[in-house]
Amino acid sequence: MLRRCAIVRCAGAACMGRLPTSGNSRGLYLDNGATTPVDPRVLDSMMPYVTEVYGNAHSRTHQYGWVSEDGVEKARKQLADLIGASPKEIFFTSGATESNNIAIKGVAEYQKEKKKHIITLQTEHKCVLDSCRYLEMNGFEVTYLPVEKNGLVNMEALEAAIRPDTSLVSCMYVHNEIGVIQPIAEIGKLCRSKKVFFHTDAAQATGKVPINVDRDHIDLMSISGHKLYAPKGIGALYMRRRPRVRIRSPVSGGGQERGVRSGTMPVPLAVAMGAAAELASQEMERDSKRIGALQKRLYDGLTSQLSHLIINGDLEKRYCGNLNISFSCVEGESLLMGIKDIAVSSGSACTSASLEPSYVLRALGIDAENAHTSIRFGIGRFTTEKEIDYVIETTVREVRRLRDLSPLWDVLVDGEEADEIEWRT
Ligand code: PLP
Repeated sequence: MLRRCAIVRCAGAACMGRLPTSGNSRGLYLDNGATTPVDPRVLDSMMPYVTEVYGNAHSRTHQYGWVSEDGVEKARKQLADLIGASPKEIFFTSGATESNNIAIKGVAEYQKEKKKHIITLQTEHKCVLDSCRYLEMNGFEVTYLPVEKNGLVNMEALEAAIRPDTSLVSCMYVHNEIGVIQPIAEIGKLCRSKKVFFHTDAAQATGKVPINVDRDHIDLMSISGHKLYAPKGIGALYMRRRPRVRIRSPVSGGGQERGVRSGTMPVPLAVAMGAAAELASQEMERDSKRIGALQKRLYDGLTSQLSHLIINGDLEKRYCGNLNISFSCVEGESLLMGIKDIAVSSGSACTSASLEPSYVLRALGIDAENAHTSIRFGIGRFTTEKEIDYVIETTVREVRRLRDLSPLWDVLVDGEEADEIEWRT
């Protein structure tokens, strides 16, 4: 186990003294918002279920099935424990996309005779927005609430938007692009008082910030394994039993996961997810301290050497693994090319095939130019101080170089210098 640990840390970059790419032609990884590497301890837990324990967890007639089922049930409990839920409230899925689809379409469909209105935010993940658009095409009404300049929901606007026929409010816990943490407990309390179900997409929050579904009055919650140091292709949906959430699942099939998500259970992935959840329970505090210190180092390093930076999203109410920055007068794609030995995302990562600036940053009121210049830095469990120092050094050098080439930068700086001159008339 230790040997594998060492290998992953080297692959992460910094272990050979020369930064960042020694022995790793892919460069330095700072895109943990997109996905996280599998923790070697998670891999160790799942491997026996890849090789020896291969029974179908739904086979009820023999030992192979029972042993697999035991692995899945242990994982269900590990995940439930992480979020203060009961194992019966956890349903395994293929990831947060599927969980979001099941939650939003499932609640809407179940309640459609009485309630046909849903509320979400303009800055939600594409899979939430697209689920809502699907419902709109099928006769439902959706309110897409704008957010404040700092990316947070306006609670008064949310309260005003709730109607007697509102069945669901869906709001992301930690934002994937700008890292802001919404006032989840407040939203949950409001929804409970209005008898509206509250769903949160916690793909970026689970295992990173302390979540308790009772404290936060969460009724449904989406979870993704690959943001939590487990492999891709596994996720979960939490659904409250008291008061009971009922859904009509959009997934048809053999009725596995009590009809919520039909399909054969990917046992090794579920086991991995459970192991990742248990590790997160044990290490969240330590991870947060380390990652928080690295975020501060990155922030201080960049802001002390570069002016005209915009930090996108509230700086305080934010997950410490995320820093989303716009560099004025720097073309985002050129900056990405200039720092190409560092894996980061542009602000528009989800729609990277398009040249449109991020719809999330636009919803914060950031102009198209600055939205184009944004970079999302995603710090994770395996990021090191040396890596952060390399990122600071490289980014500062590249931003200065690009600004030197930019006529806009000259105009900006000349304009400011002109403002400082006292003109005698
Ligand atoms: N929701 C959020 C907030 C995400 O960051 C992601 C991942 O990009 C998803 C949903 C989709 O998750 P998955 O890849 O598990 O389907």
